[in-house]
Amino acid sequence: MADTKLPNPKKPRAPGAAQKVLHKLGLVRDIDLALHLPLRYEDETRITLLRNARDGDLVQIEATVTASEVTLRPRRQLLVQVDDGTGTCELRFFSFYPSHQKTLAVGARLRIRGEVKGGFWGRQMLHPTFRVAGGELPTALTPVYPTTAGLSQPYLRRAVAMGLQRADLSETLPPDVELPWTRNYGKNGIQRLSSLREALTFLHHPAPEVPLAALEDRSHPAWQRLKAEELLAQQLSQQQSRRVRDQLSAPMICPGARAGARVPGVAPLHEQLLIALPFALTAAQRRVGDEIALDLTRTRPMHRLLQGDVGSGKTVVSALAACLAMDAGWQCALMAPTEILAEQHFAKMIGWLEPLLAARGRRVAWLVGGQKKKERAAMLAMVQSGEAALVVGTHAVIQEQVQFKNLALAIIDEQHRFGVTQRLALRKKLAVQGMEPHMLMMSATPIPRTLAMSYYADLDVSVIDELPPGRTPIVTRLIADSRKDEVIERIATQVQAGRQVYWVCPLIEESEALDLSNATATHADLSDALPGTVVGLLHSRLPSAEKKAVMAEFSAGRMGVLVSTTVIEVGVDVPNASLMVIEHAERFGLSQLHQLRGRVGRGAAASACVLLYATNDSGRVGETAKERLRAMQETHDGFEIARRDLEIRGPGEFLGARQSGDALLRFADLATDTHLLEWARELAPMMLDRYPQHAERHVARWLGGKADYLKA
Ligand code: ADP
Ligand code: MG
Repeated sequence: MADTKLPNPKKPRAPGAAQKVLHKLGLVRDIDLALHLPLRYEDETRITLLRNARDGDLVQIEATVTASEVTLRPRRQLLVQVDDGTGTCELRFFSFYPSHQKTLAVGARLRIRGEVKGGFWGRQMLHPTFRVAGGELPTALTPVYPTTAGLSQPYLRRAVAMGLQRADLSETLPPDVELPWTRNYGKNGIQRLSSLREALTFLHHPAPEVPLAALEDRSHPAWQRLKAEELLAQQLSQQQSRRVRDQLSAPMICPGARAGARVPGVAPLHEQLLIALPFALTAAQRRVGDEIALDLTRTRPMHRLLQGDVGSGKTVVSALAACLAMDAGWQCALMAPTEILAEQHFAKMIGWLEPLLAARGRRVAWLVGGQKKKERAAMLAMVQSGEAALVVGTHAVIQEQVQFKNLALAIIDEQHRFGVTQRLALRKKLAVQGMEPHMLMMSATPIPRTLAMSYYADLDVSVIDELPPGRTPIVTRLIADSRKDEVIERIATQVQAGRQVYWVCPLIEESEALDLSNATATHADLSDALPGTVVGLLHSRLPSAEKKAVMAEFSAGRMGVLVSTTVIEVGVDVPNASLMVIEHAERFGLSQLHQLRGRVGRGAAASACVLLYATNDSGRVGETAKERLRAMQETHDGFEIARRDLEIRGPGEFLGARQSGDALLRFADLATDTHLLEWARELAPMMLDRYPQHAERHVARWLGGKADYLKA
């Protein structure tokens, strides 16, 4: 679509600059401008008589200047007296230009707009807007748009008006579709607003008698129409991408699929691993394993989300899936959000798989950001040649230079920590034309229903709803930080009994430096308080070799206490650790606490989690903070905890930083617009089948370049 050429403002300060700002706000196409909706409105449709103006009213008057002077005391200001025949008012300006003084000269008749202060005896307006009186009054409310420095309201208003006028707003909804937003308004109620143009024109310039409340809470049919259309675009895009994916081919992985890939006379890798494992799978693990295996026998790419509470044993399920692919001669990738977690996975995969793979002449490769050049080059060569059957690593796995020979299965651990672009990049790693790898995404953070219906509509979901047997439940205690000494004594007993302890320091968002000094100080304190115990320190700023060394000491049981920032939050697995202390627990989200707590209780020993909370001077923690933390004592169910978190913090948390930062829904609100979401979900497949061109235009209009983004 052509760029909007803006009308020349009367006094062009720097039109190029304003245009740049428009682009920065994402206002590029005519339709973008048409969809840039007002924040609020001003009523310039009537003139108020001064006699009727009350203290605090925002009014527009027409009056004649009777006096105008600049005074210097108490500070330099321009004072102007006006009279409209029913009363007088004083206008005050602390900043003004000679041109203002000229317009405000005695005898001038002006249209003035501002907030009236004071009563009958001395009305005043501070910095009102004004212009020469006369001219027609507008018939609609005046829109006030969200803007930013360098873009004035009048300029933006003209640009939006032009965009609205020129945008192609032809109908994209199929004929005869039922419009949910008209239900509440009856046949003869407020306008049906049966076209998008009508709805937008209305929202940009509503009639003055419209109840402002319906505009503010977005319940007005015009708003409903917009939100429904937006949700429909999102559903169309998701369902379309699902259809496209169904057309794509993916490697078909079933036993014997690639003749010669398997070593004759040797049991399948998958079976060998099951035998080698020191435990039997739970029923839930077996069930989801079957679901995944079935997907892998299909020729269309799997997009499956594997959900399971912290500690439910997702890793082994993914390893077994990888075995199926590797045994058929394909490659797999396992990507984790942090180096520590990737490291753990790597160690685990080596332990489980390396002996089995070695017999087949294949290996496990390792890719992270801070790797030594030589090691990295060797790994890249292994990946390219196909010698590496499995590649474990961080974001490094998806970089340009990483060329797979034949990637068939991409596993993403803690998928909510990754952005859409990263998932897209992984999908492009299967070089063979027209093919995509199967994707297995894992997460312990349950996705609420409305999100599953919208952003994740494209995913199949498997749930591990059972923990491995023999776990002793974690006892959670809330303790005021004034009793820290008792907690330290308890640590000493635990360490003497051969157990290990995590001590987690909170992330202080405003200052990473403060964060580190905090952890460092705690580390020093604990080292002093626990003579003879090895106390380690782990935080995100450590060089990766050092992180690795610290983690290795702790995993091997040579370190009694590990002081850490939240770098250990996800996935870390040291079964001998049986006590976790979380300092300033009130600063964490519930789901985050749940993840952290999941680091203990992984072995047979009775485990505990101590939530230390800071108290104020009167010895009390804030009521809401306490209420929240109590939930941690009451339940160990990750789904329940996520539900409570959602109530407190809203859906942004679940979408991951990248997605929520660039909110994909501008108008609709998943919490309140469920009925519109359901409408859109039902309509989308029908539209794709019967009105594909309508659907295509609708998505282009609403999503433009973002459509791709939604597909990951
Ligand atoms: P998560 O689902 O949180 O990623 P992990 O995969 O890290 O959990 O598994 C947690 C721990 O439980 C690991 O030590 C793992 O080896 C162990 N585990 C997994 N499945 C079983 C099982 N069926 N029986 C006993 N232990 C298991
Ligand atoms: Mg895990």
